[in-house]
Amino acid sequence: MVQTNGATDTGDLIRLVGLKKHYPVLKGIIFQKTVGIVKAVDGVSFAIPEGQTYSLVGESGCGKTTTSRQILMVEQPTEGEIYYQGKSMREFTTSERRDFHSSVQAVFQDPWSSLNPRMRVDNIISEPLITHQNLTKQEVKKQVNELLEVVGLHAFHAERYPHEFSGGQRQRIAIARALSTRPKLMVLDEPVSALDVSIRAQILNLLKELQQTYSLSYLLIAHNLATVRYMSHRVGVMYLGKIIEEASPVELFTNPLHPYTKALISASLPAHPNLQREEIVLTGEVPSPLDPPSGCTFHPRCPVAFEPCPDQIPVIEEVTPGHIVTCHLFTGAEVPSS
Ligand code: SF4
Repeated sequence: MVQTNGATDTGDLIRLVGLKKHYPVLKGIIFQKTVGIVKAVDGVSFAIPEGQTYSLVGESGCGKTTTSRQILMVEQPTEGEIYYQGKSMREFTTSERRDFHSSVQAVFQDPWSSLNPRMRVDNIISEPLITHQNLTKQEVKKQVNELLEVVGLHAFHAERYPHEFSGGQRQRIAIARALSTRPKLMVLDEPVSALDVSIRAQILNLLKELQQTYSLSYLLIAHNLATVRYMSHRVGVMYLGKIIEEASPVELFTNPLHPYTKALISASLPAHPNLQREEIVLTGEVPSPLDPPSGCTFHPRCPVAFEPCPDQIPVIEEVTPGHIVTCHLFTGAEVPSS
């Protein structure tokens, strides 16, 4: 029996249990009728301890961002629970909800579109401070200057506008803004993918330093597996709304078990140019979550699918301590010899 994808209860800041987000597909203009259900997130469970990074990886449309939107309380789950500091978010009082909104912040992919071009940097950073805290003008100014220093900028940058900065500097401003409410959890949605390669490491290192200094927890959403490997304490691989494998980054990248994870890793750049890696090319597109395949939803693309795969949904198995996979190759099904 696997408990919520192997994470322990102790020290978890946030825990998702059986989270589902299903969208009805409606037809008709006046008399609307439900003609289908899109299962964007379909039973996701994981936990993020204090001061750690949990990463979600997978192709576009697999449910990573929908999961994060529910953590940010932008959307309500259809089913399942999210526990924050041990309390179900459904049971939050108004003041708990307010506290939650200040303690959970997000940094998005494109700092250009997430910063208001008409606002000066001091106003951008101080906006959440003013919303969530009762501070004097002097206190706000002091905190803005401190935040700029913390993210590697300077107090004189406070009077400038976003267009006066490079992409990396804009992302530093977005991070300063997110830090302004002293969050415990930050959702990092592709935080470096819009930046030049030369700048990415600087921003990732900044995020790591901030995590250590403030014991921040991160939910990282990223396509780049090198970023995920560098930043994470645990990694969940998503496919069609479900987590199909979860492990520590070292274990996942050296010993991937699920055929989909193997294909994802084989398609990424090797850690060193001298390393040889045989690329597994998946056939076909990701199926529509409106009409997912039966059994294991990966079976139409799986290079090693066998007898139970099209009909039986594989259950979660903990193959080695902390390494979880959902695949019939590990459920005791009789695997044909190749
Ligand atoms: Fe492939 Fe079957 Fe495993 Fe699904 S359950 S990943 S189809 S082997």
